Amino acid sequence: MTGHFIETRLTAARRIALAPQDPGPIPEGHARLRLAAASLCGTDLHYFSDFANAGFMLRNPVTLGHEACAYVEDPNGSDLAPGTLVALNPIMNCGICPACQRSEENLCTAKKFPGSATTVPHLDGFFREIIDHPVRCCRPVAAGVDPCHLTFAEPMACALHALNKGGVTADQNVLVTGCGPMGLLAIAGAVARGAVVTALDLREGAVAVATDVGAGSGLVSGTFDPAELTGRFDVVIEASGAIPAFNTALDAVRRKGRIAILSNMALREAEVNLNLIMLKEIEVVGSFQFNREFEEAVRLIETGAVDFDVLTAAVYPLAETSTALEEMAAGRAFGKIVLTGTGLPAGG
Ligand SMILES: [Zn+2]
Ligand SMILES: [Zn+2]
Repeated sequence: MTGHFIETRLTAARRIALAPQDPGPIPEGHARLRLAAASLCGTDLHYFSDFANAGFMLRNPVTLGHEACAYVEDPNGSDLAPGTLVALNPIMNCGICPACQRSEENLCTAKKFPGSATTVPHLDGFFREIIDHPVRCCRPVAAGVDPCHLTFAEPMACALHALNKGGVTADQNVLVTGCGPMGLLAIAGAVARGAVVTALDLREGAVAVATDVGAGSGLVSGTFDPAELTGRFDVVIEASGAIPAFNTALDAVRRKGRIAILSNMALREAEVNLNLIMLKEIEVVGSFQFNREFEEAVRLIETGAVDFDVLTAAVYPLAETSTALEEMAAGRAFGKIVLTGTGLPAGG
């Protein structure tokens, strides 16, 4: 197995090199997989643009990507059947620290995560044809699941974690601020739970996708009176990363309601209306990655209840990862950009 497989490597800001892949022996406890589909995340975009993310500089070239699914090529003694499509859980937790013992793998202090500067030495991510991944982090799926949908398992798990942290259940009024890919997935997940969802964004096109995916109403900032929202929502999912949107959330949530922060809030000088947290007894909760929600996300994908085609902005073959990241950087794509591995059709 040499020569004709490729991997992508981020060698400097805005530079992706394609290199032949020559995988060595399969590490113990891992299976050898062949990429079926992967998707681009905001984290990948930060590394691509700046060679850094959230203050973590990359120390050496790395393969990006932590959202993917793949076919089993060599089970390496495990009971995974060759050819099976598996969803890849990128959280490789230690299993023994206090967080792991509480089933909070997302907060494991010794976890490994692919395509990230937080693990040193950096662990290569999924934007490559051959992937060796821990068998325990491979979730086989039912036949017939579309790989371009299954690659949403990881980001959908993040969105479902935010819904769980916010306590979203059927019939609640839920506001999602920000209709980027994460906000859209939170909307789709909340709709699947039977919540009544309102979507808010600055961009009309993003709001249109939100209503296509099931939001009962879509609001474009600047085109309505914000006072209409005051106190109307049981839960707000903050997915924009913008402090004005967080202030909207504080106003829009009802008394004793909850706000779950799913976004990366960039530090900048802006005033947060903190007093409302006291006056309305608002619970503000953070949401970082996911735990049991990975399984929940895969099951949701298996049901076919969510229209992931509507949430897909574009599809590129793996060899065009750089073009795909440039398209994401341009900010015109609403929804996710998906990469396909060998043997899967591209385009669309
Ligand atoms: Zn991601
Ligand atoms: Zn741990």
